[in-house]
Amino acid sequence: MQQPLILAEKVSKRYGAVEVLKGIDLSVARGEVVCLIGPSGSGKSTFLRCINHLEKIDSGALYVDGELIGYRREGNKLYELKDAEVAAKRAEIGMVFQNFALFSHMTVLENIIEAPIHVKGERRQDAVERARTLLERVGLDSKVSAYPRELSGGQKQRVAIARALAMRPKLMLFDEPTSALDPELVGEVLDVMRALAADGMTMVVVTHEMGFAREVGNAVAFMDGGRIVEYGPPRAIFENPQQARTQAFLSKVL
Ligand code: ADP
Ligand code: MG
Repeated sequence: MQQPLILAEKVSKRYGAVEVLKGIDLSVARGEVVCLIGPSGSGKSTFLRCINHLEKIDSGALYVDGELIGYRREGNKLYELKDAEVAAKRAEIGMVFQNFALFSHMTVLENIIEAPIHVKGERRQDAVERARTLLERVGLDSKVSAYPRELSGGQKQRVAIARALAMRPKLMLFDEPTSALDPELVGEVLDVMRALAADGMTMVVVTHEMGFAREVGNAVAFMDGGRIVEYGPPRAIFENPQQARTQAFLSKVL
């Protein structure tokens, strides 16, 4: 069997005395789209932040592409990564947040070429060329020179996706990418994500868009209280949830 791109084994995370992740087990294969659903405070964002090296886990193990997050292996010894090494690892993973997090003083193009040039050392000309291709892909080639304030929320989020893709990530994490958008702008962002999934990108998507999860997700994980309470194919989760907590949650959001 091929090695999963993400493997979580009994991942636990605490903030002070509060255990926020209580033993998460999850395996995400290459090219797979896993949607994380669940009530506010259940640990969805924290789990994504752990995958993206933004938080350290307290116990268990978390692997991306076969490498233990936060550590480097030499022979059979493990060494904790230095900050610069962590940053390099993080650069291999794309993350899209609810609130876009674009650089407001930079144009769309500058936003996209920033990291490829300064983190990866790409030539400006190559970065610009790729940025233009990506902007075409998200339907925003006409906005190359615009500033974020001149864009709608949906357009900003599509730029944020293009910016993440500019780093040629091996996987993409989405944390409620459409939650801050006016309803009429949600579809254009989901369309871009759908195309990305069809293109074979491995994705973990925290979302309240149950239609998207059902249609695009290969699997859905329902989180509650720091645990994955139920996991399975979207049809099984949405049409025949086994756990009372899943049923209660779905009855409120569907
Ligand atoms: P979700 O994304 O599912 O809404 P989060 O992962 O954001 O949940 O939060 C899970 C729990 O961890 C919540 O109770 C939240 O208050 C707590 N939490 C999140 N981040 C921090 C932090 N930096 N310090 C302390 N507690 C936190
Ligand atoms: Mg969250």
